[in-house]
Amino acid sequence: MVTEAPRMNVESFNLDHRIVSAPYVRLADRKQLPAGDVIVKYDVRFTQPNRAHLEMPTVHSIEHLFAEKSRNHSDRVIDFSPMGCQTGFYLILQGEPAYDEVLALIEATLTDILDATEVPAANETQCGWGANHTLEGAQTAVRGFLAERDRWNTVYAA
Ligand SMILES: [Zn+2]
Repeated sequence: MVTEAPRMNVESFNLDHRIVSAPYVRLADRKQLPAGDVIVKYDVRFTQPNRAHLEMPTVHSIEHLFAEKSRNHSDRVIDFSPMGCQTGFYLILQGEPAYDEVLALIEATLTDILDATEVPAANETQCGWGANHTLEGAQTAVRGFLAERDRWNTVYAA
């Protein structure tokens, strides 16, 4: 007899992290707000869960860079924030852009990050831990993620 795990409130707690294949970009959630607007949440996974992770200064700098630069490409961006497990990020967007549009936004933003010469707002005035950054670490991780662009749409291992 198969016993199913109880359904949890948090979408990712219902995801079996053993069967995903990072890197990937996955639609994690879609919510219709009371006034009718829709927002979507994407799981932007950089490293294979429970096998590899990003170091915290790298996570932090990617967060700053993506949050700032993505808004040059799209008015849809509501939030880009790190996962506590340090394996990826959540991207929350207004409306329901096509999947390919989301991938294009991510690709354009990450390409900007490779060209960056500094991490925006990496100082004590604009950040809660301004010293905890690495542009080089962020660019190395982003370069690796971009190199696997053709795998982003494959979420699960074959
Ligand atoms: Zn910060």
